Amino acid sequence: MKIRLAFRLKIFALIVITGNAFSSVKAGEGMWLLSLLDSLNFKDMQEKGLRLSPGEIYNINHSSLKDAVVIFGGGCTGELISPEGLLITNHHCGYSRIQAHSTVEKDYLTNGFWAGSLQEELPNPGLNVTFLVRMEDVTNKVLDGITDAMAETDRSQQISSRINVIRNEAIDGTHYQAEVKPFYFGKAYYLFVYEVYRDVRLVGTPPESIGRFGGDTDNWIWPRHTGDFSLFRIYAGKDNKPAEYSPDNVPYKPKKYLNISMNGVQEGDFTMILGYPGRTDQYLTSGALEMIALKALPAKIDIRTERLNALQEEMARGPENRLRYASKYVGISNAWKKWIGVTNGVERSGAVDNKKKTEDTFKKWAGALPADPEGYAGLMDEFSRLYKLYKPHYLAYDIGTEMLSALELSSLMNRSQTMFFGTADSSEQVRKTVTDKIITMGENYFSNGALEIDRRIMPSLLRIYYENTDPAFHPAFYATLRNEFNGDYQLFVSDLFEKSHYTNQARFNQLFSKSGKAVSKKLSGDPLTNVYREFSISLMADAFGKLDSLNREINKLYRKYVTGLQAMDTGKLFYPDANFTMRLTYGKVESYVPADAVYYDWYSTLDGIIEKEDTAIADYHVPIKLKEVYVQDDTAPYAIDGKVPVCFIASNHTSGGNSGSPVLDANGNLVGVNFDRNWEGTVSDYAYNPEICRNISLDIRYVLFIIDKVADADWLLDELTLIKN
Ligand code: ASP
Repeated sequence: MKIRLAFRLKIFALIVITGNAFSSVKAGEGMWLLSLLDSLNFKDMQEKGLRLSPGEIYNINHSSLKDAVVIFGGGCTGELISPEGLLITNHHCGYSRIQAHSTVEKDYLTNGFWAGSLQEELPNPGLNVTFLVRMEDVTNKVLDGITDAMAETDRSQQISSRINVIRNEAIDGTHYQAEVKPFYFGKAYYLFVYEVYRDVRLVGTPPESIGRFGGDTDNWIWPRHTGDFSLFRIYAGKDNKPAEYSPDNVPYKPKKYLNISMNGVQEGDFTMILGYPGRTDQYLTSGALEMIALKALPAKIDIRTERLNALQEEMARGPENRLRYASKYVGISNAWKKWIGVTNGVERSGAVDNKKKTEDTFKKWAGALPADPEGYAGLMDEFSRLYKLYKPHYLAYDIGTEMLSALELSSLMNRSQTMFFGTADSSEQVRKTVTDKIITMGENYFSNGALEIDRRIMPSLLRIYYENTDPAFHPAFYATLRNEFNGDYQLFVSDLFEKSHYTNQARFNQLFSKSGKAVSKKLSGDPLTNVYREFSISLMADAFGKLDSLNREINKLYRKYVTGLQAMDTGKLFYPDANFTMRLTYGKVESYVPADAVYYDWYSTLDGIIEKEDTAIADYHVPIKLKEVYVQDDTAPYAIDGKVPVCFIASNHTSGGNSGSPVLDANGNLVGVNFDRNWEGTVSDYAYNPEICRNISLDIRYVLFIIDKVADADWLLDELTLIKN
């Protein structure tokens, strides 16, 4: 009897384990396509609390939530919050625009900016917002007659030409733009039609001490107290259609804007996010994950550490330097810190081993198939074979390009030589104009501290590349470095800098005052140019050339792998990797346990800002006005039990690109603005883990509190629709 019971328990345990692994996506996991919500997710969303119909979220015949959500600039999300085209996104998404408007005298980064009226809103040439008009499954049109037996190059050529036709048909006679994107490694294709607005003005931003409170120290960290928002307004022509900037343009009247909930959230509440996650790689094999997260990222982290240290030194030289480098610094450090989180998260969550387990299960399943015409049984071995070839090329290319792009010299060399030789056959007048431009580029480079930064970081960068890549990709100059400079990177780089035309303004100007022939002769003897030339051959010709064809072959394997996984577990819902198309993710407000004996609550408050204040650390300066309001307890109607809510966490599966996305409650009202993830949770780009993955959002009531009490910009509040039960 006892034995039987134990046996039964074992069977039960097996069901639970396999059930967890394969039958449903984990709670909170998934970035879903909006047009499929009805058929795939709606029931589950309803059970979890949603009180809207799928048509209220996505509809192409009448307005729906999707009409209130935009791509902001090139890589963030934003949402409409008023009938007058007012838009909210993150402070870090508007950062470069705020920086561009800032001067030492009018330093909006430091002091914030609030327009007092429409007339005071600031135009941002080049900034766009993009609305999704509709999406359509065009798989059949793209893949009709295309088989897996075709060579991948033929396949992709045919597909590209069909995509062109579909795209052109979709926008024919309209002012729309369109793109067709592959999903599941080319198993499915969707068309997206967009409308782009080009007059977008800055309305308001809190000072950095609110919008970036906690700075790099707190970035990617929970608990968090960052007021990460900025406000912009979309302007349109008198017909409400997109128009280039003009003072005559008028505020855009959106099809849909979001109502704002004053009710806040509680632990366990349903939340959903609409937005544009940029990229995830959920289906990577264990070997690929190991290569990316445990080999390439650590080297790239080291490269960025060098860069950040050098930039910090430059920025400490004075306010002008700080403003000049602020946006660049923030961009570099954002990915740098994220990568550290990813490598830690991969190790902590055992993501590589978990993937190995899935692969073993897949192999067993495939091995037991009565017939295997697809060749699933040999798929994992085929992956291993290709990745073995792929890895040295990938590491050289990935680490090498990170290294070269870290040096401003790279772009100066590249651009000056392309421009100079590109106009070799042009008229004298054209050549003169181009030479003048090159001289100006040089002036900028030599006057803005970039040369010093390059000189400082180049020795370590060359070493990091060398130590983390296969000798087959070490350009010949490394032998010179070893033989003639005793392996001393510092000496080697000093010598390059002493002799090169690119490291001295007079030599640079002199070089480009010469004829084409003379310039090429001089460059062929220029030691720095030669280092670059050798790298270009190693990286572009050798590494990239091979990677390109291997990528196609690997892509084909992944297509097969996803098809196999779906066949293995027909009850499971699969979602495609993020590719910067609009997605919906849903989960709930949830605390978590980051480590043994540590519990992280799900929300933070203004009290925490006051606790964190440290006048000796720039990241923790608190503006006087915010402190005054706190001390006077002037916090109604935003405080709950005397505390002003600031941020909260939830289990919504997000990624880069979701910055600025609306966090909506069960009724579709705005409760927060997504801006980050917890550090270890960034592993969700490769393997979502419900125990540790959380997205971090700004509580919308903190936004209102700042606008109202700190910025005194209450004219803006009059535009909003606030909902209070
Ligand atoms: N803070 C992130 C970003 O910079 C958003 C995320 O990845 O969750 O894109």
